Amino acid sequence: MPAAQPGPAPQHVAVIGAGMVGLATAWFLQERGVRVTVLDRTGVAAGASWGNAGWLTPGITTPLPEPAVLRYGLRAVLSPSSPVYVPPRADVKLLRFLAGFTRHSTAAKWRTAMRAYIPMNRRALETFEALEAGGVTARANEAKSFIAAYRTETERSVLLDELGHIHAAGQEIEFDVLTGAEAREVEPSLSDHVGAAIRLHGQRFVNPGQYVHALADSVRARGASIVAGADVVDVRDEGAGVRVVTAAGADDRYDAVVLATGTWFGELARRFGVRTVVQAGRGYSFSVPIEHMPAGPVYFPAQRVACTPLGDRLRVAGMMEFRRAEAPLDRRRITAIAEAARPLLRGADLDARTDEWVGSRPCTPDGLPLIGRTRSPRVFAAGGHGMWGITLGPLTGTLLAEQITTGRQPAELRPFDPLR
Ligand SMILES: Cc1cc2nc3c(=O)[nH]c(=O)nc-3n(C[C@H](O)[C@H](O)[C@H](O)COP(=O)(O)OP(=O)(O)OC[C@H]3O[C@@H](n4cnc5c(N)ncnc54)[C@H](O)[C@@H]3O)c2cc1C
Repeated sequence: MPAAQPGPAPQHVAVIGAGMVGLATAWFLQERGVRVTVLDRTGVAAGASWGNAGWLTPGITTPLPEPAVLRYGLRAVLSPSSPVYVPPRADVKLLRFLAGFTRHSTAAKWRTAMRAYIPMNRRALETFEALEAGGVTARANEAKSFIAAYRTETERSVLLDELGHIHAAGQEIEFDVLTGAEAREVEPSLSDHVGAAIRLHGQRFVNPGQYVHALADSVRARGASIVAGADVVDVRDEGAGVRVVTAAGADDRYDAVVLATGTWFGELARRFGVRTVVQAGRGYSFSVPIEHMPAGPVYFPAQRVACTPLGDRLRVAGMMEFRRAEAPLDRRRITAIAEAARPLLRGADLDARTDEWVGSRPCTPDGLPLIGRTRSPRVFAAGGHGMWGITLGPLTGTLLAEQITTGRQPAELRPFDPLR
């Protein structure tokens, strides 16, 4: 067990970034009696935490680098309609990320990373219950059905193999193997082109934007201020405290700081010894009306398209585009997602799209988030959650709040040490 941090626990902490990860950390710090100020350059859920698919799926929360993704990624390079896109002219940061990602895309590395995820996955859903019992008004919905659908049994074999690996690694996941007709019986929104499916059990989903706003409301109600328009340009450890400077000239001092800045994580974290590159893995989404709203998420793995019921509209999400987070929304990607989903969904009006959105998954080359103390005992990392920041955001917040207030690193966080 690492030594406890010297000195008293911090009384006033600044959390930079008002996405799922930052706000969950703020909430669990408040649980431990810490005063919190949250700063965001834009506002609540301005980054990836808004338009994502909202799946709370610890059963399939796995490291992104793995041999199949790599094979797929290389084959698909350069095609604007492919679900994985790497631009022809990569900058130095992207090249570093891709080199690291490639190195980690082996079966052995995947198994090691999976072992790090399993203890997190085991506790992920119970932390949502803690938030909701503690006053967060949004709800993590039980997925009454969660269907992965395919045209053919051959396509399905890829996920069946993956589920075999996930299970062999020690992750609990229950599922049924269905024919197309059986899948349509469970989920009438699937078209006749669906010829094979897998039904996952025990997973949940949220309307992510709504959930993160409800979390922000709860953080405020418990006494924190959430400052929008606070673009943090400098964080300086001055020994007795940490100075946080914004572009508008605010200059305040805190006992400790949490960096929860999503895809922009490296900008502030690098000077505190975090060398791991965080690369934007951009994804797109939109929502459409559908005749029969699915009772839970619908996944088309071969097309890399994820659908989630959000009230009276279905969110359709997809793409993994390794480009600058600030690049404009590329309409070709939206069209590609709509065309990939069109033949497989029944009764969805894919031309009546609203809420077209692009956002950036904060991806690390080894597929593991960066959570914990940096080189400074007063500056903490909460970033790099890649595909899984909604599922693992609340648990990250609980464990990091424990580390910040006790000085001890919880065992679950050891593999995610930001100084690795
Ligand atoms: C298409 C798509 C589908 C996804 N589906 C799922 C899913 O189903 N389940 C799941 O678990 N995950 C999913 N994800 C991943 C998930 O969205 C992210 O992992 C998660 O939202 C990351 O949360 P975050 O709080 O770390 O970052 P963000 O939500 O991006 O928040 C970072 C915040 O930091 C602020 N910020 C940055 N720099 C500064 C600065 N210098 N000063 C002040 N503020 C700053 C930004 O304005 C932003 O609000 C998906 C992602 C995409 C793109």
